[in-house]
Amino acid sequence: MRYVSTRGNPEQRRFCDILLEGLAPDGGLYLPTSYPQISADQLQAWRLIYAEQGYAQLAFEILSLYIDDIPPADLLAMCQKTYTKEIFGTAAITPLRPLEAGVFVLALSNGPTLAFKDMAMQLLGHLFEYELARRGEELNILGATSGDTGSAAEYAMRGKQGVRVFMTSPHGRMSPFQQAQMFSLQDTNIHNIAIEGVFDDCQDIVKAVSGDHDFKRKYHIGTVNSINWARLLAQVVYYFAGYFQATTQPGQRVSFTVPSGNFGNVCAGHVARCMGLPIEKLVVATNENDVLDVFFKTGVYRVRSSDQTHETSSPSMDISKASNFERFVLDLLQGDAQRVRRLFQDDLQREGQFDLSLDPLFQQAKQGLGFVSGRSTHADRLRTIQDTHRRFAQIIDTHTADGLKVAREHLQADVPMVVLETALPIKFADTITQALGHAPPCPPAFADLPQRPQRVTVMSPDVASVKAYIRQHCEIGA
Ligand SMILES: *Cc1c(COP(=O)(O)O)cnc(C)c1O
Repeated sequence: MRYVSTRGNPEQRRFCDILLEGLAPDGGLYLPTSYPQISADQLQAWRLIYAEQGYAQLAFEILSLYIDDIPPADLLAMCQKTYTKEIFGTAAITPLRPLEAGVFVLALSNGPTLAFKDMAMQLLGHLFEYELARRGEELNILGATSGDTGSAAEYAMRGKQGVRVFMTSPHGRMSPFQQAQMFSLQDTNIHNIAIEGVFDDCQDIVKAVSGDHDFKRKYHIGTVNSINWARLLAQVVYYFAGYFQATTQPGQRVSFTVPSGNFGNVCAGHVARCMGLPIEKLVVATNENDVLDVFFKTGVYRVRSSDQTHETSSPSMDISKASNFERFVLDLLQGDAQRVRRLFQDDLQREGQFDLSLDPLFQQAKQGLGFVSGRSTHADRLRTIQDTHRRFAQIIDTHTADGLKVAREHLQADVPMVVLETALPIKFADTITQALGHAPPCPPAFADLPQRPQRVTVMSPDVASVKAYIRQHCEIGA
């Protein structure tokens, strides 16, 4: 399997080369040159593998189709270390639970940080450690987070050889649970840097440091953001696991609703569908930051400026642009990478938007690729959380509530609808309390979280100080 950029750079790369990289040199994202096709027989065989040998084996089967530069025994060992009952809470890893007839929730949030990002990030931790050791290299991951991404990255990389994490976050602006989760890590390779500013200040610092090419090279600066192909690939697996749990007959069709921000999660569903998984619809659910909903309704993709980006009660979906969207657009335009380059490099840069409404491929693709969308607001979120609690005695988080609200607008008779649960409610306890009048239950493993000692360095939003901090910690080897 080889990988190429969405913007047409002809160079073909192997999996382990793109594993440790961010964007392609032409600014595009990496995609495989083709999607492996799964026959109906193969799908049945995987159904049995999941039932009899479990999620780790299923993950290995799927990943093997895309990774041919890691010996199979090593890849299998990493899948087995990652997808365990100890780490994800159940043998099914991603269990499916029913709501009303025909509607299910796929639980993706029982990993170490209680959000679906663990599903991919936990594997990424092993892949990074493995590949860095093989190359005799080290990597310093520099990131900016307002919550879920940073904690998932830290819990995946803690204690890993050859990796340090420097995670910036806006001082005092994360939820108390998220802050305690990150800052309580005592591993010496994890560094929390609280910036006296907002999330955009953190992101600007990361951009400035990464934009200093000498510094970046000298200190081996890298990232783990959602455009990483390995993260997307790891997420493809649970669409299959969800499908097998929601169906009994070969060929039966299922729809998935995905609470979406950067389009990474739902793009993995798109890849599963392109491989031949019988998905009827992929429902893209957004919050008030409805860039994607507007696109699927109108064909116009318009990014928001930071002051047009709302701070909502489903904060992990508060995006101004959807970083993974470019991958989908390449498929929508049937592989026309030059056109993708013009849209994302020229039109988006110049006008902040592009318009595919008049393009027959847009209408055709909406049908052919099975995408629909919807949006949900704070009031919808509260109502959905209340209603789910009243009718099913279940508490769902705010992002999953956005998904469930939109899912119900797209139900079809005889097609099971699977809503992806992207976080547990304890992470967003304030909104749950607002909806239900009481806080959600805290998983036992986190009961003492508020009491654990915290490690964080507070800094002003100053690029030079962050660089000095990184330099100092690389040189003392901590
Ligand atoms: C990251 C995140 C999302 C959005 O996922 P994308 O892959 O960026 O679309 C949704 N919900 C939660 C809880 C998240 O952490």
